[in-house]
Amino acid sequence: QKKLEYVKKNIRSYPDFPKPGIIFRDIFSVLSNPPAFHALKDALFEHVSEITPKPDVIVVLESRGFLFGPIVALHNIPCVPVRKKGKLPGDICRQEYTLEYGTDVFEIQSDSIKAGQNVLVIDDLLATGGSLKAACLLVKQLKANVIQCLVVMELLNLKGRNHVAVPTHSLIQF
Ligand code: IMP
Repeated sequence: QKKLEYVKKNIRSYPDFPKPGIIFRDIFSVLSNPPAFHALKDALFEHVSEITPKPDVIVVLESRGFLFGPIVALHNIPCVPVRKKGKLPGDICRQEYTLEYGTDVFEIQSDSIKAGQNVLVIDDLLATGGSLKAACLLVKQLKANVIQCLVVMELLNLKGRNHVAVPTHSLIQF
């Protein structure tokens, strides 16, 4: 797809960030370029409009998932956040997940998704898959179904999609 090749060309890569040996893919370089951001928005819309069944809810992951989920939510799909611990008010469900060093906790508001609803989970980037896996477990705690995980970028060498165990789509691969 031409549009996505154009977007990919506009993702700036930073070798050795945040530490030696890691190549950091910076999606903000797309947001700072309106034609590239438009192309990305079009590709997201196009992909989501083809998902069947149409998702009832979009779940977006803190923090860069927050950049893309709401755009898609303008297709008239409710959008709800998964956040790091302690940020969400009201009744919440928690899920611990593994980071490279140690663990962290994701939370979702208990009444944000109804049992049986079909959910699309959106984040910016799939690396090891730990974040998406934890988000899927939160959705499961609320007895809803994740029909797909959608990311803008996927780091193929980490094989994170095997870890997620839910159908996962990436727009751009590295
Ligand atoms: P995972 O849980 O290992 O799949 O890591 C995914 C999370 O780490 C996403 O929420 C990303 O925002 C973040 N992340 C990891 N590597 C990068 C990168 O190269 N660029 C931007 N975000 C990254």
